[in-house]
Amino acid sequence: MKTMKAVVARGLNDYAVEEVTLDPPKADEVLVKIKATGICHSDLSVINGTIPVAFPMVLGHEGAGVVEEVGENVTNVKPGDHVTLSFVPNCGDCYHCLRSEPYLCLKSTPDGKMMDGTVRVHKDGEDINVMQFLGNMAEYSVVPSMCLVKIDDDIDMKAAALVGCGVTTGVGAALKTAEVKPGSTVAVFGAGGVGLSIIQGARIAGAAKIIAVDLSDDKLAIAKEVGATDVINASGDAVKEVMALTGGIGVDYGFEAIGIPAVVDQAQKATRRGGTMTVVGVGKLDQKLELNALMFPLTSKTFKGSMYGGAEFKVDFPKYLELYKQGKLDLDRMVTQTYSIDEAVQAFDDLVAGKNARGVIVYD
Ligand SMILES: [Zn+2]
Ligand SMILES: [Zn+2]
Repeated sequence: MKTMKAVVARGLNDYAVEEVTLDPPKADEVLVKIKATGICHSDLSVINGTIPVAFPMVLGHEGAGVVEEVGENVTNVKPGDHVTLSFVPNCGDCYHCLRSEPYLCLKSTPDGKMMDGTVRVHKDGEDINVMQFLGNMAEYSVVPSMCLVKIDDDIDMKAAALVGCGVTTGVGAALKTAEVKPGSTVAVFGAGGVGLSIIQGARIAGAAKIIAVDLSDDKLAIAKEVGATDVINASGDAVKEVMALTGGIGVDYGFEAIGIPAVVDQAQKATRRGGTMTVVGVGKLDQKLELNALMFPLTSKTFKGSMYGGAEFKVDFPKYLELYKQGKLDLDRMVTQTYSIDEAVQAFDDLVAGKNARGVIVYD
């Protein structure tokens, strides 16, 4: 059993760094010493209730680290291996895994327990859940082996962490969900970690015009550095400005990467007739997206939802990290601030204030 620091959410807007204990890995589980944890908007969505979960819960679902110990039957990794964590399992046997759709794996549950329905994190006899099998906003994490991908030892751990959620979600939304074509036009509403990754995916796909839309000029500046050809501050009429940049037609591919229905509406209005609108941002359970009953068929648009960038993560994590190594995917520019785990609350304050493209917690 280990004693460690972890960021524990105990109820809505109630979270702190706590000392907890961690059991050793059971069969098909792995103990990982966490080296980097990305602070994703979905962690905030757990804290503020947008994503309903069972508290108490260790936060964190975007991370990378080094394998320290493996349980029985584990063959895909060994102690010393560098790994990126996937918050969606890949059981290999369910309806979706058998159809190359592991991003929809039926073993994925929001209950915060391990595959066998028990937990590994405790405090004074109390069971503590973990976010999406990982709970890696902590010094260590015990995770199902099916959630791990071995990566090369020379890859920066911050970059490796980002690939665990935001980068795979965004790059995959462009390359795999929307299937952006060379020479096409793209508009991305929201230029945080996921939006910047969509922009990079569109650039890699060869899009001719990539328009970034955000309220933050700082994020728009980063968007330009990683591939946006045009930027629009959303404080004005963003739809009108997208139309002006596309000869009054609209873009071939619209993306929403925030999770606000009104912004989805803007993004779909900025998408041309016959174009493809992809919703990546996650809104609240009781919110609805509206389609106009007359215009939806008449404009012949395609609406898509994109979960985890349509990732087959065992194939896609290494692919995206190879693009990073080759300089085609700029992950270093996306990390705008690092924190120690003791500074986790500050890191969330900065996220709420819109200060970071991506903040990352790093560990000794
Ligand atoms: Zn995430
Ligand atoms: Zn499955």
